[in-house]
Amino acid sequence: MFKYDAIMELVMAAEAAKENISTLVLRDHAESMGMTELEVYEKMELDYMVMRGSIEEGLKKNLKSMSGLTGGEGYLMNEYARTGKSLCGDFISKAMARSLAVAGCNAAMGRIVASPTAGSCGILPGCLISMQDEKGIPEKDIIMSMFTAGAFGIVIATRASIAGASGGCQAECGSAAAMAAAALVELMGGTPHQCADACAIAIANQLGLVCDPVAGLVEIPCIKRNAGGVVTAFSSADMALAGVAPKIPVDECLDAMSAVGDALPTALKETAGGGLAATPTGRKLQEFVFGKID
Ligand code: SF4
Repeated sequence: MFKYDAIMELVMAAEAAKENISTLVLRDHAESMGMTELEVYEKMELDYMVMRGSIEEGLKKNLKSMSGLTGGEGYLMNEYARTGKSLCGDFISKAMARSLAVAGCNAAMGRIVASPTAGSCGILPGCLISMQDEKGIPEKDIIMSMFTAGAFGIVIATRASIAGASGGCQAECGSAAAMAAAALVELMGGTPHQCADACAIAIANQLGLVCDPVAGLVEIPCIKRNAGGVVTAFSSADMALAGVAPKIPVDECLDAMSAVGDALPTALKETAGGGLAATPTGRKLQEFVFGKID
């Protein structure tokens, strides 16, 4: 049973114990599940391995979604990153490629880890695997940071939402970016409070993002929003580590996200009734997949 209703409760518990959020959460999970810490860690390790497999699959050149609407985004971005000419630089470009790969793998019905959802599944692995592969962070630290990301995700889910159908895309890609931002801060040696700051900044910067999947499929704009989420996560983590305060406390950001989600019209909550899904091209693409709907 997860016992934190607020991010700041989690932060204060970690600070009181003088340990990282991940260490605290791993111990809590082990106690509540009646398992050893090693057993719980090994479960997370399995998720980490799935994430790695999704990246490998999603970077393949000929990957196509079931609908035929998307495919190859991860491959293209990775090739571009390798030219060394990208505006975002090598590290961010490769992280974007990994996130596109995982989201593309999902659209092709491949195996992914919902983190927190399938639509936003590329953001956490895009950030974390890049920290390992490009910056040499040890695998054990990466896996531990997933406990921090997960803990933030649980609080977001209970206090606000992680479903596009109830909270818009801010709840999916926004939450994933916030979870990843917190994990990145911990990986960089930041404090639990800085993890919360990064989460707050990421949520604030994604507030109001609508859920408008073309043809109701988790492809357009979902796949590219994963790359956008990666950039949000890294920039939020960097701001928090630099001491740039979010000003609005993290749990108030989550409450605002919940209120904004409630205020969004149904057309912008995964119904394909508004936003990009309702554009002339969005409707044509829907016809391409499903035929004309009277
Ligand atoms: S647009 Fe909707 S379906 Fe797509 S990732 Fe965002 S919340 Fe999920």
